[in-house]
Amino acid sequence: MRGASVLRRVLGIEHALIEGIDLEDDVVVVDVRLHKRQQLRCSRCRKRCAKHDDGRGRRRWRCLDLGSTKAYVQSDAPRVRCREHGVVVAAVTWARPGSGFTLAFEQQTAWLAVHASQSTVGQLMRVTWRSVGRILTRVVADGLAGRDLLDGVTRIGIDETSYRRGHRYLTVVVCHDTGRLIWAAPGRNKATLKLFFDELGVERCKRITHASADGAAWIHDTVREKCPNAIVCMDAFHIVKWANEALDKIRREVWNDMRQHRKRGRPPKDAKQRARQIKHARWALLKNPDNLTDKQAATLAELEAAGSPMWKAWLLKEDLRELLKLDADEAIDRLDLWLERVDESGLAEFEKIAKTIRELRPEIEAMLTHRLTNGRVESVNAKIRLIQIRAFGFHNPFALIALAKLTLSGLCPPLPGRAVT
Ligand SMILES: [Zn+2]
Repeated sequence: MRGASVLRRVLGIEHALIEGIDLEDDVVVVDVRLHKRQQLRCSRCRKRCAKHDDGRGRRRWRCLDLGSTKAYVQSDAPRVRCREHGVVVAAVTWARPGSGFTLAFEQQTAWLAVHASQSTVGQLMRVTWRSVGRILTRVVADGLAGRDLLDGVTRIGIDETSYRRGHRYLTVVVCHDTGRLIWAAPGRNKATLKLFFDELGVERCKRITHASADGAAWIHDTVREKCPNAIVCMDAFHIVKWANEALDKIRREVWNDMRQHRKRGRPPKDAKQRARQIKHARWALLKNPDNLTDKQAATLAELEAAGSPMWKAWLLKEDLRELLKLDADEAIDRLDLWLERVDESGLAEFEKIAKTIRELRPEIEAMLTHRLTNGRVESVNAKIRLIQIRAFGFHNPFALIALAKLTLSGLCPPLPGRAVT
């Protein structure tokens, strides 16, 4: 057939003959036959095998559109009998085993899933998001073949992140030195994390020098059990997060008190305005002082003038955030003063944090001393949260993990036919 080699090139099909091309119901169908030497190979190990049967006859694989027209590659798909793998469908050179898409199609879909929105991928490639999930899982599995993300890792950050409603969680591990996601699995408990250390193996566990985490006992205990040489550090980010959460709780309490008061009658003259002010104080309280708008700064000043518990709480939160940035010695001194001030403040929410900080004192001092660059881990976690939002509809944590690895582990393939950039 004339132009066959052009078509092979366009479709990215190797070691096969183009037997024909046709238009059926507005769809291009390209008939293909594998070269003799590539026929009847096991799709798992690629060894030559005896033919078992014709399988389900001729099969179609979706390939990249030809121009704007949907296209399929069509070929025989016999089954073979492999000594090792039993009866399996024979391998083809243009698709992964078990996939109804060609390699180039899957490569482009994976690239797009990393760079574009769910609806863009769906519309452009004309596939369901569930199919995308399965494609990503296959592309990542291939990308990981002959490559070990855990090699050379010495400083790790371990965190948990929720996905989907119903409190389902992933445990994620990030390398502090490369800022890459190196491992993720569904679950958040010792058993899940042990899977990571099993994969790492005894020797590489010994080479772990630092591990940072969010203070959860299941993480700290497992690291100590598995990594004899690791210093366990607290993540600074989480300490500030606790303070922000406490501050927000206090704000809501004050606001609720005020509403109750109003219901009971005889509200003070400006009660309505004050309630609104407190409701809107949220962002002023949570923001860093440098980023406040004039209005937010004014809100804070009013809270101060009124001697509000929110003002006291805000000061405690800010001092904690600032002291964590200081050099270890100074930070530790300031932390002691901070704990004393919390005791005097009478703010129950902050007393809880003080208790936790006292319990995690060694990990916090290790964090201040060793200064792992947690910004990287946090940015990976923030990105995973964004990926989670895009991954709604996967119905499968492994598709989410695949998208996270494509995006954050350096596994994203280039577009078909382009060099890696
Ligand atoms: Zn085999």
